[in-house]
Amino acid sequence: MSADCLFCRIVAGEIPAARVHEDELMIAIRDRNPQAPVHLLLMPREHIESAADLTDADAAIAGRLLAAAATLARSEGVADGGYRLVVNAGVDGGQTVSHLHLHLLGGRRMQWPPG
Ligand code: 5GP
Ligand code: ZN
Repeated sequence: MSADCLFCRIVAGEIPAARVHEDELMIAIRDRNPQAPVHLLLMPREHIESAADLTDADAAIAGRLLAAAATLARSEGVADGGYRLVVNAGVDGGQTVSHLHLHLLGGRRMQWPPG
């Protein structure tokens, strides 16, 4: 855990968040500033700064995040209508919290190209 990382503190339970899933590798919470009717953040318990830091050694957590997204999309009722998974990486990618997270957005029609 990184003591000055917001999401590490959420994982540790030091900062409250609306949890919708947790297992031994990851948790999922509701985004506090939702950009769609369903907006979840899926993150590893382990502090990984960015998608840019992933290696083959992280295959288990990377796979778990994607599989959990599919399960949560179903339980949130957006799987049939469709949804979007987003990983912002680095400054130009729009990443504001330096702890890897996957956005699951659904419940409205998404636009392309993204902003
Ligand atoms: P990023 O811009 O890094 O891809 O996404 C960070 C996300 O974290 C944003 O969508 C923002 O609304 C969300 N966020 C930031 N701080 C908190 C918090 O304290 N609690 C929750 N639930 N979400 C947060
Ligand atoms: Zn962290």
